[in-house]
Amino acid sequence: MFADPSDVPTDLYLGGKWVAAQDNGRFDVLDPSNGAVLATVADGTPADAIAAVDAAEAAAESWAATSPRERSEVLRRAFELMTLHAEDLARLVTLENGKALPDARGEVAYAAEFFRWYAEEAVRAHGSIVTAPSGANKILVLEQPVGICVLVTPWNFPAAMATRKIGPALAAGCTVVLKPASDTPLTALAMAAILQDAGVPGGVVNVLPARRSGAVVSAMLHDPRVRKLSFTGSTEVGRILLKEAADQVVNCSMELGGNAPFLVFADADLDAAVDAAMIAKMRNGGEACTAANRFFVEDSVAEEFGRLLVERMAALRVGPGIDQATQVGPMVNLDAVEKIHDLVTGAVKAGARLALGGNRPDRPGFFYEPTVLVDVPTDAPILREEIFGPVAPLVTFRDEDEAVRMANDTEYGLVSYAFTGDLARGLRLSERLDSGMVGLNRGLVSDPAAPFGGTKQSGIGREGGHDGMLDYLESKYVAVQW
Ligand code: NAD
Repeated sequence: MFADPSDVPTDLYLGGKWVAAQDNGRFDVLDPSNGAVLATVADGTPADAIAAVDAAEAAAESWAATSPRERSEVLRRAFELMTLHAEDLARLVTLENGKALPDARGEVAYAAEFFRWYAEEAVRAHGSIVTAPSGANKILVLEQPVGICVLVTPWNFPAAMATRKIGPALAAGCTVVLKPASDTPLTALAMAAILQDAGVPGGVVNVLPARRSGAVVSAMLHDPRVRKLSFTGSTEVGRILLKEAADQVVNCSMELGGNAPFLVFADADLDAAVDAAMIAKMRNGGEACTAANRFFVEDSVAEEFGRLLVERMAALRVGPGIDQATQVGPMVNLDAVEKIHDLVTGAVKAGARLALGGNRPDRPGFFYEPTVLVDVPTDAPILREEIFGPVAPLVTFRDEDEAVRMANDTEYGLVSYAFTGDLARGLRLSERLDSGMVGLNRGLVSDPAAPFGGTKQSGIGREGGHDGMLDYLESKYVAVQW
């Protein structure tokens, strides 16, 4: 269906129709493995954004009135179609994002699962009824769709970040406008075609690629018909959008950046910890909000852990994501590579030692070598910022208190990883680590059935699981006398 990027529709998808931008503007989508133009895509304007809200409004009442079972079955068909076209979608993700094909296949399977999970949740938007403590009346609580939703997604998981929002929104009975990242709009457009085939009525899902993200999203957040913003992206942009959303008091869900600590205690199974470190660090070439960003290793095993990690990182095959042998693809764009390189050189300047890598390979495309830094001083900038690349900085610790203090010393709180053979310590750490999620002796936390999200400046709200649908429902309380 989408074996070639030229098979993907490249106009805006508004009200169930493919249309050009009102000013006929278009922009290029690049292949990060060589910088070549893959496709040109319609560039939505603020006026198109209002047209998208018009379309979402026109469809809102009838979509909210469909039966939960009908919405469930549409989502189930979307899951089946995504699964049927999984290989084409994975290739598309790889072509526009750069990630290696195995990572893209993993993403597409994960993305499709959100449709299956919310097909199952659509019929479980339970309200409640209880007797008031005074006995005078009943407290009836209805769960109703929150209203028209603006969904803004990042480039690092172009399929999964979209389905993680569209799935629960549609299950809840909301209509949506999706603004995908301009580096990776093709996957979102391909999914619009899949949703259309699955029977989603025109106007329920609108997809609006746009290079002028700020102006387009702002136009929608200032339209009083929009009641919900669900954003996944950087904390920096999240802060801007929270301020924008304040003008019309728009309900916000925010999935923002991370700075995940990865703690390895001397009593851990070191081989298992290294296996998990490779997943937590290298899934998506390090371009994940959940990526292990800071490795804290207990003194007595630091040398051994470092040696094992260098061995595994050095063996990774770097190349165009589309090549079958590739394990690490290019970064998404040149800015990303430059930022990673600045963080690595900054760490070395601050006193860290390069145990592996540290260079930009001499080849076309946006590549960075798998890199391990040891003896990283605790004040190095690389420990404060999201690296978003294949770089592992190692720091040692003396005891649990020091490890927890360093792990929590960040404005972020998305996920923490801890490796220990002591169950009591593991559970204690799960409480002490200040993050929305903990990987305990495990390097992967993402699961459509689990509430994903962060504390502190990593976000507000949860996506996935039952909680994910609550973000798209408004509780209405009816005081009933009978
Ligand atoms: P980004 O914040 O630059 O962009 C995210 C989206 O916002 C894109 O669609 C972009 O076009 C749009 N955008 C950018 N500026 C905007 C503005 N001023 N107004 C409105 N929209 C704007 O993030 P990115 O570089 O695409 O993605 C990487 C970031 O996303 C990382 O920080 C990563 O941690 C985060 N992320 C978080 C999660 C999570 O679930 N917590 C998941 C994936 C990625």
